Amino acid sequence: MAPHTPTTPLDVAAVVARLRATFATHRTRSTAWRRGQLEALRTLLTEHADELVAALHEDLGKGPKEAYRTEVGFTINEIDHTLAHLDDWLASRPADLPERLLPATGHVVREPLGVVLVIAPWNYPLQLALAPLVGALAAGNCAVVKPSELAPATSTALARLLPRHLDDEAVAVVEGAVPETTALLEQRFDHLFYTGNGTVGRIVMAAAAKHLTPVTLELGGKSPTVVDLGTDLAVAAQRIVSGKFLNAGQTCVAPDYVLAVGDTAEGLEEHLAEAVRERFGADPAAAPEYGRIVNERHFDRLTALLGSGRTVVGGIHDRATRYLAPTVLADVTPDAPVMREEIFGPILPIVRVPDLDAAIAFINERDKPLALYAFTASDDTRHRLLTETSSGALTFGLPVAHLTAPDLPFGGVGESGMGRYHGEYSLDTFSHSKAVLDKPA
Ligand code: NAD
Repeated sequence: MAPHTPTTPLDVAAVVARLRATFATHRTRSTAWRRGQLEALRTLLTEHADELVAALHEDLGKGPKEAYRTEVGFTINEIDHTLAHLDDWLASRPADLPERLLPATGHVVREPLGVVLVIAPWNYPLQLALAPLVGALAAGNCAVVKPSELAPATSTALARLLPRHLDDEAVAVVEGAVPETTALLEQRFDHLFYTGNGTVGRIVMAAAAKHLTPVTLELGGKSPTVVDLGTDLAVAAQRIVSGKFLNAGQTCVAPDYVLAVGDTAEGLEEHLAEAVRERFGADPAAAPEYGRIVNERHFDRLTALLGSGRTVVGGIHDRATRYLAPTVLADVTPDAPVMREEIFGPILPIVRVPDLDAAIAFINERDKPLALYAFTASDDTRHRLLTETSSGALTFGLPVAHLTAPDLPFGGVGESGMGRYHGEYSLDTFSHSKAVLDKPA
């Protein structure tokens, strides 16, 4: 692990005080400043794309195409979308007033919150630090970014590049692990934006309560994929494989497990094995676009789950390189170890359910997922999943895709989180919608 400069609690307080002083000058409120910061962030990403892609490879073995598309390119798209709509999103919105108040005018103005904290995880260490930052800057805030210590190369790159390209009196990077994050959480922020697991999410929320700070918690969980009767299994298998094994399964919205309705499991097993071979070749260890497990702790956790079912494809692993092949497990029972917690790795269990009623009951008996996916040819199934289940997102026919659409809100519900972002939803998260009423004398 690369060394990081430890930040003492005193340093952290000074960083926050510096940003607060900048916010008090009001300069971050102008649209020109916001645009300038977003354009500078875009320049950082384009000028340093190769070095960022290399850092992502070092941290997670990400292939260059995947690293660019899901991290650097993703963030550039978010910036471009924001720049294209910023004037519109910042325009004050007239509000209708009740007749008894007339003559008068009413409108709603989005105002920045102040100094916000973005705490990022290791799995998409660039995207999940910078996409929230895009929203924070677009909304006119100052921001502290705390990258994940488990992706040290990306963390170091962000700490070096962000202050060089952005207004360093308004944006700061604090590197570090639990002590530094704990010190940060003692400070008063105007919004906390945390992406990661629910255990730390609770720590963040408890810290926020002390200062009455609003929080966004982007958490995870087990996202099911329902494969209904009458589905084109070859298409479903290809798309499940591409969503599941992205970043070696270390994606918060990856399909966690398949709920195979009726007899779909048999055909699906073969198609999934075929789709894995098609995508990663006979030896995925040699595939340039197949990633590695982030560290040995996660590697050991994952390999301990391999006995949870019959191996359809994969299962091969190598601790020295933290390689775990794309793996599909069949005949998995609902109480198998692999079904107890979010997998967050390249293991796809298939659980059989007799019918759609059983699939819906299975989903509703568990925590509300970050995403629910379904492959179906039936409008009735679509309607039932839409109205009888709850999840952060519901996507038919293409797992993971919803998060690339900036006009769709991204976030969880219940155990999968609270709040949402991307596009205009980020503006909402990082702004206060102020009611303004003007009554003439
Ligand atoms: P992680 O271990 O990198 O932790 C996230 C952040 O929390 C880091 O910055 C870390 O320094 C900080 N942290 C860790 N322990 C802390 C503590 N005790 N006190 C204060 N801060 C602490 O990432 P992770 O949690 O392993 O990430 C994986 C989880 O995140 C999965 O559950 C995944 O589904 C979820 N996730 C969700 C999203 C989303 O957008 N909803 C995206 C990615 C990951």
